[in-house]
Amino acid sequence: MSTDCLFCRIIDGDAPAEKVYEDDDVIAFRDIFPAAPTHCLIIPRKHINTLNDADESDTQVLGKLMLTASRLAKEAGIGESGYRVAMNCNRGAGQSVFHIHLHLLGGRQMKWPPG
Ligand code: 5GP
Repeated sequence: MSTDCLFCRIIDGDAPAEKVYEDDDVIAFRDIFPAAPTHCLIIPRKHINTLNDADESDTQVLGKLMLTASRLAKEAGIGESGYRVAMNCNRGAGQSVFHIHLHLLGGRQMKWPPG
């Protein structure tokens, strides 16, 4: 837990978020500036700054982020039409909140490569 981390504050209920899923390991909520009709962020309860800071002990929770994305995509009805999961690592990739999070994006045609 980092008191100056926005996503830790969301986990603790000290900052608002529209949660769509939570369990003992991860929580998911709608992105405040959605880039697609479905845009959720899936985060570990454990504070990890960037993917570079994850280690072997985080293997299970990293897998859970992916499986939660798949589950939420199916629940949102975009499992078959298609969706994207993405994690930005460091500012050069566009990371702006330094608590790792998986973006789940769908509900529109995705382009490749991303910008
Ligand atoms: P990043 O740029 O770090 O990969 O993604 C951070 C995401 O967090 C952005 O898509 C941004 O819109 C979202 N975000 C930033 N502040 C808030 C907030 O206060 N609440 C929610 N729900 N999302 C936020």
